[in-house]
This record gives sequence, structure tokens and C-alpha cells, in this order.
Amino acid sequence: MIVKEFVIHRADINNHCPNCFSARGMVFSFIQNQKENSWVIITAAEIQEQLFCQHCSQEIYPGSWDEAIERVYAYQRKCFQPMPSEVRLKKKGKIAVGVALMFLLSGVGLWISLQNGWL
Ligand SMILES: [Zn+2]
Repeated sequence: MIVKEFVIHRADINNHCPNCFSARGMVFSFIQNQKENSWVIITAAEIQEQLFCQHCSQEIYPGSWDEAIERVYAYQRKCFQPMPSEVRLKKKGKIAVGVALMFLLSGVGLWISLQNGWL
């Protein structure tokens, strides 16, 4: 299965980096994953947050966020609409489900016919 990452929201913020104290170059990224094979596309509901400082080239993990960063995070979290979590069948998957349903329905029809003595 191929896993694709989509950056659904990206924001440059003006907070101070807890590592290098630079006020420039902090970037919040909100990432959503999509898994795909030849049958289905599965969009995960989970959203990953990443805070990266371009000045010191380090990821700032939530444990070292200060209150100001938490407030900006809470605001940025409301600024976008995530992709809906779903399982979508591709053409090959739709054909497979269609064939399976056809066999199931014809099996049920045959069973009902045999039970009632119609055949
Ligand atoms: Zn930094």
C-alpha cells in the first residue's frame, strides 16, 4: 500500500523558537495521510501536526511548546477543513464488489427458490 502525505494547512508563525529563540522561520504544518492500493483509497481521520523551525532546522515537539505557541496552535487548528475520512473504491474495487454482490444475490435467490420448490 502506498502512503501519501498531504499538507492540508501550512502557516508561518511569529513565535519564538524554544531552541534557538529566533522569532522568524517557525512553520506549522498539518498533515493528513492517505493509503492507496489498486483497489481502494483510504483517507485517515488522524491529523498530524508538525512545528518546524527553519532557523535551527529542528522540529519543535509539543512537550517544548510554550503557552503562546499553544494558543497559535489552537487558532491554526480551526483555520482549515480536514479531508473527510473515507474509504473510496477504485474501478477495480467497484467491479470486485459488484461481482461479489451478484454472486451473493444469485445464491440467495437460488436458495429461496429451492426452499419454496420453485425449481
Ligand atoms: Zn529554532
